[in-house]
Amino acid sequence: MAGARIKPLVAGNWKMNGLAAQLAEAEAVRAGMGSGSPAADVMICPPATLLGRLSSALEGSGILAGGQDCHSEKSGAFTGDIAAEMLVDCGAAAVIVGHSERRAGHGELDRDVRAKASAAHRAGLTAIVCVGETAGERAAGLTETVVCRQLEGSLPDGATAANTVVAYEPVWAIGTGLTPTAEDVARVHRSIRGALEGRFGAEGAQMRILYGGSVKPSNARELLSIDNVNGALVGGASLKAADFLGIISAYEA
Ligand code: PEP
Repeated sequence: MAGARIKPLVAGNWKMNGLAAQLAEAEAVRAGMGSGSPAADVMICPPATLLGRLSSALEGSGILAGGQDCHSEKSGAFTGDIAAEMLVDCGAAAVIVGHSERRAGHGELDRDVRAKASAAHRAGLTAIVCVGETAGERAAGLTETVVCRQLEGSLPDGATAANTVVAYEPVWAIGTGLTPTAEDVARVHRSIRGALEGRFGAEGAQMRILYGGSVKPSNARELLSIDNVNGALVGGASLKAADFLGIISAYEA
């Protein structure tokens, strides 16, 4: 299977959900994973308000913490924004950039996403760069065109397999319960792999490509066994430890 040597990543995106009590779910993920060495890297990206406390709670567990967005600058007059360096300061190992909810709701363009990914690299974070087509683009047969254009514009030149993860998230599949067919996922991930190899060579061949969009315990095994799917970015199903653990367990023999 292509990409079989790449250690997968299962990352949970809590979005704008969770007060302090939600940290109990992260503790439950930690307890549920036990002390063995898991077949996949596991990450939780809570709201920024919980990042420091979540990192402390998960210390020593091997579960990584991540941010959901960052500003491109290190500091300055950017009220309400958070620098990549600040995420590192709170214990983050990674940051999601270019999520479709930020592209659509905050008008982020590929060049903005690229600047944020560069900022993540500057700070020593892994950038999880999201791409994906809308329902209209899919209906028009433009999925690969859109995804490859977003990749080209959103990934900075210094991207490596260590500092960059790509997340393919069809916009119409996010939070809807809908998922593409296994054949569709395989086709898009193959195109992404080709684009990454074309631009980044051996690094592109090793870069993790996550699938995101309505992943849940009942479909995880099928989605995560597809060629060039090196893990999942999980929204709603990451909020409950039992569901998130059910997805992680897709990587158990
Ligand atoms: C997401 O928003 O990144 C996501 C994949 O959401 P969900 O799993 O809820 O579809």
